[in-house]
Amino acid sequence: MSMLNQILEYNTEFVENKEYEQFITTKFPDKKIVILTCMDTRLFEMLPKAMNLKNGDVKIVKSAGAVINHPFGGIMRSLFVAVYELNADEVYIIGHYDCGMSAIDPQSILSKMKARGIDEKTIEMMRYSGVDLEEWFRGFDDVTESVRHSVNMVRNHPLMDNTVPVHGLVIDPTTGKLDLIVNGNENR
Ligand SMILES: [Zn+2]
Repeated sequence: MSMLNQILEYNTEFVENKEYEQFITTKFPDKKIVILTCMDTRLFEMLPKAMNLKNGDVKIVKSAGAVINHPFGGIMRSLFVAVYELNADEVYIIGHYDCGMSAIDPQSILSKMKARGIDEKTIEMMRYSGVDLEEWFRGFDDVTESVRHSVNMVRNHPLMDNTVPVHGLVIDPTTGKLDLIVNGNENR
């Protein structure tokens, strides 16, 4: 059975057995916070548990490396929606040690794309159109610096309410230990 069919089959039972009842909540985060973190598999359940968060407590936005690529991209837009529409009064940027984005090689992604049939001409055409693919796929060398950079981008964004604290943390993906990098309560 394909993964999709396994999921759909399980889902039918999940709904029939009313297993959703334990998760019922609202779209507004009870703890009034929004978290931007990494899509790393190790953090999926562990990060909320390590922060004592349950369903309904927070908004979570995820990206590879917890990176905000662009001040007017989808990640930043999600943070604004959380703050202005969904009552998130604090922003937490949470990177993690041993992040895949710290070791990522843009050339490796590009060569894998070519190996899977993406035409070299397509890539060249993007370069001529001014898309810097190397920069776009580039990760970071130091997660602490990356978190600091993201905190500054959110805090200094011209559309961000400057009374909203923006915190920066780095989590250990094995132990769940959080290291505080920027205390947004002290830096407003
Ligand atoms: Zn990561």
